[in-house]
Amino acid sequence: MSEQERGPLGGLRVPGGSGGTDPLGVPFQHDPLGGPAPSARSGRGSEEEVRASAVCAVGICDGSGWVIDDDGEARPCECRKRKIRRARTRGMQSTIPERYRGVSFDRPPISNMAADPGTAAVVREIRDYCENIDAELDEGNGVWLHGSAGTGKTSLAMLISKTALEAGHSVAIYSMPRLLARIRRTYDADSNEEGYLAFFDRLTSVDLLHIDDLGAEKRTDWVLEQLYAIVDRRYEERRSIVVTTNLDTDDLREQIGDRTVSRLLQMCDMEKPVFGDDWRERRGLVIPPAPDARA
Ligand SMILES: [Zn+2]
Repeated sequence: MSEQERGPLGGLRVPGGSGGTDPLGVPFQHDPLGGPAPSARSGRGSEEEVRASAVCAVGICDGSGWVIDDDGEARPCECRKRKIRRARTRGMQSTIPERYRGVSFDRPPISNMAADPGTAAVVREIRDYCENIDAELDEGNGVWLHGSAGTGKTSLAMLISKTALEAGHSVAIYSMPRLLARIRRTYDADSNEEGYLAFFDRLTSVDLLHIDDLGAEKRTDWVLEQLYAIVDRRYEERRSIVVTTNLDTDDLREQIGDRTVSRLLQMCDMEKPVFGDDWRERRGLVIPPAPDARA
């Protein structure tokens, strides 16, 4: 391969791709929900958009982001929908934190948990969720992971987010203290960051909201109101949430409020009765402490 075929950072250059365009290849800042079909476009703008994304991420369209159906009507391709979903996570924490990037069912701590009779069932449940990630997120199913420090709950939750990201879903990942701090900042009148409403929209529209360490800090009533508003909106719109906490539900109600906890429990099917085989139905998973330390 010649030097000319490589991009500026050594990555492969996509044939026909052009520089100077948005990396997503979608003019989402003007057109967040999909603009007119290519037939309605004209001139250079249309050509540039086609060139900007020469390869369809799901192998369906010709790279334009549009599919022409039997009636000759253009409809958005799945790859375009994915790009728009990704664009929604701009300005949000939507990558796996460094120390959890390598998280996998095949590696410790999760491989150890799978081999441990005390935690094998929890790992099976998470594996099941990950294997059906598209359907689980479509249905708005959530996962609640409760366990004391060092039980591996954060690793399991990160594995869910990693799976969702790899499947092309939009994910926002926040520790509880960071999320509350971020909400507080959007409220500062002199802040240059986007306002609360814009942040609220993004937080409620991502496919998966992941909150780590729920109940980890004391906060004001105002911030708790906002947290409830986010959770409640996601509940109404059937959007999934993954939470980890080391508090039991009574302590959590004390920390973040009764209404928010009740909504979260509903989203994670915690209110189903738990008898025998019904255990498999629920997504509220309690991880028993283990003798060896887990992250
Ligand atoms: Zn496509």
